[in-house]
Amino acid sequence: MMEALSKHVFYPLWDIRERADRLAELKRLEKSQYWSPERLRELQINRLQSIVQHAFKSCPFYANFYRDLNLRIEDIADLRKLPLVSKSDVREGLNDFLSKSFGKETIYESRTGGSTGRALTLYFDKRCQEHRNAAAMRSDRWAGRDLGTKTAGIWGNPPRTAGFKDWVRSSFLNRLVYLDTMAINEQSVCNFVSMWKRQRPKVIFGHSHSIYMLARYLENLGVEEVRPVGIIATSMMLLDHERSVIEQVMGCKVSNRYGCEEVGLISAECPEHRKMHVNSEHVIVELLRRDGQPALPGEEAEVVVTDLINYTMPLIRYRVEDMAVGVEGVCDCGRGLPMIDKIIGRVADFLQKADGTLVAGVSLVERTLTDIKGLDQMQLIQELRDELQVNIVPGRLYTPQSKVLLHDELKRVFGDVMRIQINELSSLPQEKTGKYRFSINKVMQS
Ligand SMILES: [Zn+2]
Repeated sequence: MMEALSKHVFYPLWDIRERADRLAELKRLEKSQYWSPERLRELQINRLQSIVQHAFKSCPFYANFYRDLNLRIEDIADLRKLPLVSKSDVREGLNDFLSKSFGKETIYESRTGGSTGRALTLYFDKRCQEHRNAAAMRSDRWAGRDLGTKTAGIWGNPPRTAGFKDWVRSSFLNRLVYLDTMAINEQSVCNFVSMWKRQRPKVIFGHSHSIYMLARYLENLGVEEVRPVGIIATSMMLLDHERSVIEQVMGCKVSNRYGCEEVGLISAECPEHRKMHVNSEHVIVELLRRDGQPALPGEEAEVVVTDLINYTMPLIRYRVEDMAVGVEGVCDCGRGLPMIDKIIGRVADFLQKADGTLVAGVSLVERTLTDIKGLDQMQLIQELRDELQVNIVPGRLYTPQSKVLLHDELKRVFGDVMRIQINELSSLPQEKTGKYRFSINKVMQS
């Protein structure tokens, strides 16, 4: 009853009250997702032409950056005529990225968490924010979360309701209940389970690793009542090993999602759960090799995004500093949106062998957790060029042999020069944001 009211009454009222374009955009996106890849490409080219011209004419950074370039865009491939934009370009030239055609009063500000220690300030306008909300709503619906579906947020630092407006929003619109991931322990999980039975949310939404930890507690406590119809894992890489534990314990498929503060949602899994569909109406994703050329499907590549809807602070060919693998082909769901196979970690999460070769740390963690029995969680920290600290959380099947196998496997990957220090912990250290990092390279970041 409340769900239907929320969807059919409160959401439309919210849009009318704020003169918002959220639901109208959602309607458009619901249609365009089934367009042919060619038609979606047409839309992208039109939007790209428009944002490139806008950036050139109204943002001092692009006016200068593009001054001597040919800005004729006839195809997505013409993007490659334009140079890449880095995080430090944005950090150092922030005001020059702002379009002069927007008044300050219509602009929202946000700051990225900066888990590598360096925060970024970002700006966008009301319309952009509404369209981003709509894209998130579309992918929520792919995962079984419709407008107004009661949802359990597995999140660090749950927001406190500050007043009547917040209360209205959380009660009638978002309909969220929380498990604070800054304190996942037996007691908080038991409280969460009682809340689950009382309030009966349908969907779980949160940090991938925290949902995994919840699943592990539920398994150990023998709780079988937490049976959502949808699970949305976001904000962190979802490891294969974690996905299978969550799905087994909660009896529900996980929908993985990828995005960043800078451009919002980048890609999300559809109900087929094969790969992630790109949010193509709003972003263009390029996957590039180290030499800047487009990567082939299956190759590890750097993610470069172009935001097609942020006219306040355009980001064109922006290096997100994540690595991903692309995939060709179409999905059985019939959506024409292109796909990404998987995200394999952030550029900053790569570790280094003595000869300088880079190792995808998160992928290594993922593979090791699958291959070696008894390891529940694992984190690699490269302290020095020749020293690797390995934090593990032992599971039920852990034996001294697990440690030997782990040690041998890491020696095999990094070579004999790397000193391997294995630390058995009861939980992994957490970032201030409530997220976890599975691979940290302190040598490259110093
Ligand atoms: Zn699909």
